Amino acid sequence: MAEPFIIAENLSYTYTDDEGDSTEALKNVSFTVNSGEYVAVLGHNGSGKSTLAKLLNVILTPSGGSLTVGGHKIHADMSEDDVFEVRRDVGMVFQNPDNQLVATIVEEDVAFGPENLGIPRDEIRMRVDDALKTVGMYEHRGAQPHRLSGGQKQRVAIAGVIAMMPKCIVFDESTAMLDPRGRAEVMANIRKLNDDFGITVLHITHYMDEAVMADRIIVVNDGEIYRDGTPKEVFCDVEGLRRVGLDVPQGRELLYELSECGIEFDDNPIDIENCAKLILEKFGAQK
Ligand code: ADP
Ligand code: MG
Repeated sequence: MAEPFIIAENLSYTYTDDEGDSTEALKNVSFTVNSGEYVAVLGHNGSGKSTLAKLLNVILTPSGGSLTVGGHKIHADMSEDDVFEVRRDVGMVFQNPDNQLVATIVEEDVAFGPENLGIPRDEIRMRVDDALKTVGMYEHRGAQPHRLSGGQKQRVAIAGVIAMMPKCIVFDESTAMLDPRGRAEVMANIRKLNDDFGITVLHITHYMDEAVMADRIIVVNDGEIYRDGTPKEVFCDVEGLRRVGLDVPQGRELLYELSECGIEFDDNPIDIENCAKLILEKFGAQK
């Protein structure tokens, strides 16, 4: 039986600024993420994604409703021990790796997190080496982070989180500043963390092709959950997604445009290869 790791029930968060103006960033949001799931959170700018990430790591606490992470209820009066445990269980990888890297040598940077957890020295050595191998950066362990490419830096940041052995990792637009190659490197790493180590992944993104790689997609819009389903279910609704300012993967879009011209298909794949195959079959051609 799958165990819930994150449980949000009517979760709300409102920002109030110095002038007393308030913004409801999350409104009565309810969902569950089970241990070992790979969930993409999709939504255009300002839809509340980063607010959700910050609540999961107790950077913020709920204004209403409830949020439980790894068995701990997140609230304003949590004990320091409980906050520590949640932050140990939930690693965060942000958009800009430059803000996340702290040391002048790659391996020292990766050791920083486990050192803060008070892990013994020998164990840290092992974890750092393993984490760097996992993200394919072991050969660069003695390098200076500022000499690395964006994708490499982000992989070092991921290694730093892996070395803390969290149960869950939240990626908040972690590929947004990377070139296509860097994005592909980081995406492959995220997939691997979920497949090989069973780490629960919450991948916040506005790239459709990245969301497709998840087991499930939660679409947020204006602080509310708009869709929650498999990539196939979510991307079927081309018009619905367009209404909330989102695109669909290119292959899906092409099938949609063709169906608008009266060419109907029996299946609705989302990956480009299967879309091409379906179109070719329709016209009696083969690849
Ligand atoms: P996303 O990550 O999806 O772009 P955010 O969670 O950052 O969205 O923001 C959700 C809403 O909350 C937006 O309307 C944003 O302007 C507002 N917001 C975010 N951070 C703050 C803040 N520190 N103070 C006031 N409003 C904020
Ligand atoms: Mg954001």
